[in-house]
Amino acid sequence: MDENQQNIAEESESKRRLPLSLYGLSPRDIQEALDLDRQYQGNQIWEWLVKGATNFEQMSNLSKAERERLSKLMPSFMSSAIISTQTDETGATKLAIKLFDGQVVECVLLKDKDGRGTACLSCQVGCAMGCTFCRTGTMGLVRNLAAEEIIEQFIHLRSLGDDITHIVFMGMGEPMANLGPVVKSIRYFHDPAGLDIGLRRITISTCGVAPGILKLAEQKLGVRLAVSLVTADNDQRDLLMPANKAWPLEELRKALIRYQRIIGKRFTFEYCMIHGINTDEASAKKLAKYIRDMDVMVNLIPWNPASELPWETPTMQEINEFTTMLDHMRIPYTRRFSRGRGINGACGQLAVPLNNVGTDNDTPAMA
Ligand code: SF4
Repeated sequence: MDENQQNIAEESESKRRLPLSLYGLSPRDIQEALDLDRQYQGNQIWEWLVKGATNFEQMSNLSKAERERLSKLMPSFMSSAIISTQTDETGATKLAIKLFDGQVVECVLLKDKDGRGTACLSCQVGCAMGCTFCRTGTMGLVRNLAAEEIIEQFIHLRSLGDDITHIVFMGMGEPMANLGPVVKSIRYFHDPAGLDIGLRRITISTCGVAPGILKLAEQKLGVRLAVSLVTADNDQRDLLMPANKAWPLEELRKALIRYQRIIGKRFTFEYCMIHGINTDEASAKKLAKYIRDMDVMVNLIPWNPASELPWETPTMQEINEFTTMLDHMRIPYTRRFSRGRGINGACGQLAVPLNNVGTDNDTPAMA
């Protein structure tokens, strides 16, 4: 083998081992993936990634020669790219993110009145759970996201310039159906040497996948848990949330009681209020009975409109009457007002057209 062939062979061997993204890798993995001589260089790059560097040229504590080598070796160290940005009057910003294979996911940055940012992240392209009030549910499941694809959504949202202090897994997909990558991404977000986001500032939301709740309990992560309940009537829940047929209310309740015994923390029930469906007295009574013996807060969220779905948002009077009933029944609740509605970025509104596989031209450069 002459010198030229040797160089080509070395280059192709090096590229073969390159990951799609450097996010989610440990400093040691980065060192190995990039053929770095010293472990501290892996640490340096890891730190730059946490700071949000977008190219090797920004990594000023690497030598010029090393920066040039790495830029050539891996022109992009992210596996995804922003393809659209929309902001509404509440300051909520929705990003459409194109993944390495051309699929698209959405994620949202929500801002409260004090300017604190919450990243609402997706964990799947589409979702298999088929909740009838959710636009993502109409897509079906396309595929799970890898941990680095979840982490990169956060990095993209943070590149908008706002401080992000909270994370909710309430975007596209069911976290319990892709728990490994979700947990891996949470460990990355929480790493005190890196982004250092407190576990109590991270919320995982589920439609009620009982085995997943038990698995999460075993992890003893200490994140917040939100369960989308919507109704405490099994027949009605079967219709609204097909996952209820697999894990009916009794089974869900057993899993939650066990979760609470292990974790010892309050969790929330998300109660999506739908006009004329789950806001009457019978619904309130069933809810009161269901939550008995559980340390829980009920989040009341008016259904966010989606023109292709057959539901309606409750009127303000309907919401007020329902909350009065909850008051009488001593049900602890908070009323939530959706941000991001104006850009289809609120709960249950995320969805992208299928067949989104793009051309090679607009897919991010991959090694
Ligand atoms: S509400 Fe959540 S679990 Fe249900 S279809 Fe939508 S994304 Fe999936």
